This record gives sequence, structure tokens and C-alpha cells, in this order.
Amino acid sequence: MNINKKTTYNFQSESKQLLNLMIHSLYSNKEIFIRELISNAADSIEKLNFYSISQPNLFENDPNNKIQISIKEKEKMLIISDNGIGMKYQEVIDNLGTIAKSGTKIFLESIEKITKKDNKLIGKFGVGFYSVFIVSKKVSVSTRYAGMPIDQAVLWESSGEGEFTVSLIKKETRGTEIKLYLKPEEEDFLQSWKIKNIINKYTDHISIPIEIESFDPKSKIYSWEKINKASALWTIKKNNINEQQYKDFYKQITNEDNEPLTWSHNQVEGKIEYISLIYIPSKSTWDLWNKENKHGLKLYIKRIYIMDNAEQFLPNYLRFIKGIIDSNDLPLNISREILQENKISQKLKTSITKKILLMLEKLSNQDNEKYKIFWKEFGLVFKEGPAEDQENKEMILNLLRFTSIKLNHKEQTLSLKDYVKNMLPEQEKIYFITADNYDSAYSSPHLELFKQKNIDVLLLSDRIDEWMMNYITEFQGKKFQSVSTTDNSIDKLTNKNSIENKDNKNEILLFIKKIKTILGNQIKDVRLTYRLTNTPAIVVTDANAMTTQMAKLFLAAGQTVNPIQYILEINPDHKFIQKIINIKDDTIKDWIQLLLEQALLAEKGTLENPNKFISLMNNLFLNN
Ligand code: ADP
Ligand code: MG
Repeated sequence: MNINKKTTYNFQSESKQLLNLMIHSLYSNKEIFIRELISNAADSIEKLNFYSISQPNLFENDPNNKIQISIKEKEKMLIISDNGIGMKYQEVIDNLGTIAKSGTKIFLESIEKITKKDNKLIGKFGVGFYSVFIVSKKVSVSTRYAGMPIDQAVLWESSGEGEFTVSLIKKETRGTEIKLYLKPEEEDFLQSWKIKNIINKYTDHISIPIEIESFDPKSKIYSWEKINKASALWTIKKNNINEQQYKDFYKQITNEDNEPLTWSHNQVEGKIEYISLIYIPSKSTWDLWNKENKHGLKLYIKRIYIMDNAEQFLPNYLRFIKGIIDSNDLPLNISREILQENKISQKLKTSITKKILLMLEKLSNQDNEKYKIFWKEFGLVFKEGPAEDQENKEMILNLLRFTSIKLNHKEQTLSLKDYVKNMLPEQEKIYFITADNYDSAYSSPHLELFKQKNIDVLLLSDRIDEWMMNYITEFQGKKFQSVSTTDNSIDKLTNKNSIENKDNKNEILLFIKKIKTILGNQIKDVRLTYRLTNTPAIVVTDANAMTTQMAKLFLAAGQTVNPIQYILEINPDHKFIQKIINIKDDTIKDWIQLLLEQALLAEKGTLENPNKFISLMNNLFLNN
């Protein structure tokens, strides 16, 4: 074949369509063409390195791999070159003329048999190169396969409209040089700072140096300036990274000043290969509760930056986690939508979730103070865990923290393990109470029996608690039990000085009947209770009925709920009861109404008609 003789080829017919489709829709982000070209250049250098293990002459005495970019302002041209493996004539036709077929893919398949490890080749899909036509009116690629004579280089040219030409040319240096003749409206890409920013964003962590040509107007000298850091911290072996480097990296990726509480760095090999470097921040951000706001990990694929806030790798209840994931198995051109359904990303999510829970477990065992900070900042979010993640429930339960009667402070520091360890021999279940706030939980009459018996009760007053408790039924074989619902195990704890031993047994039974008649359908039932000391009466709900806190949640969410049918339990040993039991006149109706409303007020924190309650009380006060 003669030098300079041009041969014209057509793109595959479907290529034309694909090309159009892609230019208009595939990459909403124009700048992405730089990422694609650099990843190809890096691939070609990786390939050269790989082949030269058995054929050192491929280096042509120039082992310094690099990728170079120069900007030709006058010609409105961008040049990206590499000294990688390059392409042979037929390869140029095959690789750059067919969109669906990818040279990298074929190469990968062929080396898969030789080694599965240590190839950082990027991209298995053939659409990458064509992104050049998003910004270019014409592209020319000159390339020489490493080790080939200099007059056996190939020039490929196209304006991306269906045809390309190929010819043989001379090229001194091995590898590939791509000239992009920019469309008039894309001349922004001639600004060096812009190119630098894009490189920083997408390819900063590529291990091959990327250089940009810069011109010093004073000395009129051109020189090459290295613009990528070429240090993907996460790819360095753990032992060779110190604490400060980890902390600096955290600040770099989060733009935060605070130091992370802890981190976990995993280089996973095997069926799915990935590296993750995940951090627990020490401060929550204001946007943690804003569902619109983006959370998630920074996604890299073989060191190339793909996107921020890839939330697909984290369950919601771990959305406070920061960090990066670098996958070897995902395709470069993956979109958020595909990521959501992709099998590999789902596997990665499962794996990363476990890693995070293990990191938290370790923190809780090794550094109580830091764990307290974690819980204070992120406990509320973490409490979504039991509902969201059935698979890891056991681990999640271990990581929950509560406050309780015995703890005697608001701060949630008690683990379920410790609660169970301190259970009394006669105690069957894990008891809890839900309320609007800590104080009303702590002072609830439902707790009187438990305080008296020295049995600890978990005090739950975060809004999410009631909802969370719906998903928590058991821990270490012990059932959870709300103290405001009727329950056999609670009855068993009460003093056995049952009604049978009372002198006024009949009188009490009659009195209960009377209450039932007077209150009518305001209540479901009236019963005696021995679980109270300082309180004359409480209301409780049936074991399978909706609880007070749950009803509040529904109401707050704008849903209608049927009024709760409470059971009124009265304490026959209380002076209030002993006093009104003897009232024979009509005021007894008011006294009993007062008894019920007191109990409702204590339970709900509010009354349907406070004014009625106040005048009822005032009347009784004035008339007695
Ligand atoms: P992919 O990188 O996913 O294979 P591309 O469209 O980006 O798809 O590139 C197509 C093919 O062209 C590559 O697989 C590679 O064989 C070849 N190629 C592209 N750029 C270069 C380059 N700079 N050096 C050598 N080969 C290249
Ligand atoms: Mg590519």
C-alpha cells in the first residue's frame, strides 16, 4: 500500500444511527469526550506495558509513558496524544469504524486467559471514541503500532458523518495522536484552565502522567506541565498509607474541615473486584433530612471519575457515609438509571453495606466516645435501618442505642446487649415506652410498676421510634413489649394482692360496673390494675390495637385514623379511688369523667377538648 493513498470507508450502517443518537443524547455532558480519550490513551499505555513484558523492544527505548494535550488556538484545534501501543491499519478500521465492536473488549477477552489480575483497562464498550464528534467538526487520528517501522503509521480522518478515510503515513513516535478540529461553538475547549479542570475532575487519579503544553509569553518557551496528581490513594496498599493521608483525602473529597470519625479501606478481589474507601463523618450536614438532596459515594471505574453522589451503593439509612468506590466491573458509560438496575452495582451495595456495618461494630467496640458522637449525629438516620434492611437486622440491632429509666440521662448510650445482660431473672421481655419527649416518657405512669420492681424500660421519644419498633420484634430471643399495651408478662409482674384479698371486694366490682355505665362508649373496658402506685388510673391499648404514638404519626402525616379504643385501668389502692368510691350523688359522673381525662392526658399529652376538662375540674373544686 502506498503512503498517502487515501481509502474511503463507510461507517457500519447502524454506526451512523448510533453516532447521531449519541451526539444528541447519550452524553448530556459534552466535556466527557476528554474523559473518553484519556481513558483510551491510558488503556493503550496499559496494553503496551502488558505486551512489553514479553517484548521489551516495543518500548523503542522510550519507556516514559505519558499522555499529552496541546491547544492550538490559531487552528482551533485540540491535540491529545499518547505513546501507548497504537493501532495497526486493520485495527484502525475495525476499532474506529465500528461502534458496537470494541478493541478493548476483544483485548480483554484475549488476556483474560493469561491473567485475571492487574489489568486496569478501561472501558469495554465501543461508544467512547465517538464522543469526539460531539465537539468536533473533523477528527484525525494518526497512530503507529509500537515496534512497527515509522512509515507504517496510519492516518484516520472523519467528520463523523458516515464516512472515514484511512491512509498510510509516516510517524516518528509510537502511539496515537488525535486532532480535534473544534466546531465553532465549542471553542471554549481551547482554554487551558478549562481542560485542566476537566482533567482534575475526571482523570486526576490515573496513574499515568497527563501533561498539558503551556506557553510562557515572557520567555516565549513552550513546556509540558503535569496536571494530574496520578495518585489514586485508594489503590495504594493500606500499609503504605498513613492516618494523615486518609484524613486529607477525606477533606479533599468532601470539602469539609472536620476530621472523619473513622474509615474503612477495602481492596476486594474475587468475583467482583472493587476498592472502597468509606468514611464516617464526625458531623451531620443540614441536608441529611432533605430527600431532594444528593447523597452517596463518588464512583470511579478503573480510576476514572464517573459521578458524584452515586446513591445506588448505599442503603438510605447509611446515607451519611462519605467516600469512594472504584469498580473494575462496571462499564464506563454507565448512567444513574442503569446503575440502579445493574446486577453488579447491586452486589456492590450489598458488599459495601456489610463493610460499613462492620466498621460501625468495630468503632462501637473500640472507641466508645467516638461511637457516642456517631450516634448523636447519625442515630436518627440509622434508626431507619431495621425497616429498610432485613438482611442485616441482627447487626443493626446490635448497633442501636437507647436511653432507659436506669440510665437516668437523655443521651442514648445503652445497647440492647447491655439491656439484656441486666435483665432481672423474672423478666421475660424487653420493655419500652414511646412518648413525645424524654420527660414525658420518663414520668409516664406506665413506668411506676417497673420503677418499683427495678426493671429497666427503654425510653423512646424520637419521632421515628414508634415506626422503628414495628420492625423490631426480638433480640437475642427476647421479645419487645410496649408497657402501654396490655400484656401477660406485665400482669405477672404485678403484686399478687389481688382483689380476692380485699375486704371491699364487692364494692370495688360494683364501682367498676358503674364506671363502665357512666363512660359508655368512651372506653373499651374498665379493669383493675396493680401496676400503679402514685397514679389513680391509666389508659392502655389492646395488644394488637394501634398505639397512641402510632396514631399521632398517622395524624401528623395527614391520614385519618379511627379514635383509639382505650382500656381504663384503675388503681384501687389509690386515695383518689378510695375517696370517690363512696360518692353516692350525681357528682360521681364528673369525678369519673375527670379520672378518664386525666389518664388520657397523661397518655396522649393532649386532650380533644381541654376547655371541657378545665371547667369540669373547676366545678368539682368549687363544689366540694
Ligand atoms: P472502548 O475504549 O470502550 O473499547 P472506544 O470507542 O473508546 O471504545 O475505543 C475503541 C477502540 O479503539 C479501543 O478499544 C481501542 O482498541 C482503540 N483505540 C482508541 N483510542 C486508542 C488509542 N489512543 N490508542 C490505541 N487504541 C485506541
Ligand atoms: Mg474508550
